[in-house]
Amino acid sequence: MTFQALLTTESDNGYQNAVVERELADLGSEGVLVRVQWSSLNYKDALSATGNKGVTRTFPHTPGIDAVGVIEETGNGPFAVGDTVICTGYDLGMNTDGGYGQYIRVPAEWLVPLPEGLAPRDAMLMGTAGLTAALCVESLLDTGVNPDQGPVLVTGATGGVGSISVAILAKLGFRVAAVTGKADSHDWLRELGAAEIVDRKAFLESASKPMLKEQWAGAVDCVGGEMLAGALKSLKYGGSAACCGLAGSPNLEMTVFPFILRGVNLLGVDSVELPCEIKQQMWQLLADQWMPENPKALEAAEIGLEDVSEWVGKILEGGVRGRVVVRLA
Ligand code: NDP
Repeated sequence: MTFQALLTTESDNGYQNAVVERELADLGSEGVLVRVQWSSLNYKDALSATGNKGVTRTFPHTPGIDAVGVIEETGNGPFAVGDTVICTGYDLGMNTDGGYGQYIRVPAEWLVPLPEGLAPRDAMLMGTAGLTAALCVESLLDTGVNPDQGPVLVTGATGGVGSISVAILAKLGFRVAAVTGKADSHDWLRELGAAEIVDRKAFLESASKPMLKEQWAGAVDCVGGEMLAGALKSLKYGGSAACCGLAGSPNLEMTVFPFILRGVNLLGVDSVELPCEIKQQMWQLLADQWMPENPKALEAAEIGLEDVSEWVGKILEGGVRGRVVVRLA
């Protein structure tokens, strides 16, 4: 039996993406077979689809770190044929063929049942970005950050993780300050719930001193580098910053002053290897109390497999606003 998939191949001319027919047997015979309905586009998918060996070691490969679909073969897992499940993270779309194929075959431990009340397409509107945003918000709440303590800064605010973080924090009653490099997206960020817009360039220009004025009760950082350093230096006493991304830089150069003079916290967030039970709790929140007020506003585009290459280019340039949903069925 065959199915359609995006296949990234390596040649002397670099990496190419094409929609091809693949054999079900290409996925092996172990694990749960899921017929994928929807996937999404994340920054990491773009890295895989352009041959980044830190994400995907061997090609040909089908990227897609997110998938939602219906179980067709249960393997030895606890699920039944016909169950709708979400798969994000672990090795999906890295070195295991991912959600840009109409079928995936994965260990049962990688699967979370689709929470009641969450449409499969909306699950992928959230995807790994939404899960990561939820984890960032949860980590801030866990350290005691609350709306009475002041505003929360979100960097990379128009990206997938950033925009969903803005929407969740606003829903929870936080005053959100959104840092963006996209001058044409201020109204859009306000529509998602941002109370204040901070220009990325101006923020970075003011971020070089060892300590900055205390402004934020918390921060969600998707960018790393000087942006994360600037956020840490401007946290209020005892504040916390959740660090999840490196869209700007993987480096962090700063002094220890904010930690030892203001007792601020740097919180690491990982959505990939996180135990499945915690993923399940986060998906339940996303399906329910934390579902953004206006999810439709988060959507940049619905695309088919044939459009993925074009959008990979856009996301690598930091040019996507919100989330891209990929249609498989
Ligand atoms: P997106 O590409 O959708 O968003 C990133 C945003 O960061 C851009 O939209 C842009 O926002 C900003 N940005 C991009 N380049 C730069 C730059 N050079 N300097 C400053 N800001 C920049 O990515 P995602 O939201 O999917 O992911 C965000 C980051 O989080 C990525 O690094 C990703 O790898 C990481 N990630 C980590 C996860 C984890 O488990 N820890 C899970 C998911 C993602 P604007 O134009 O508004 O400034």
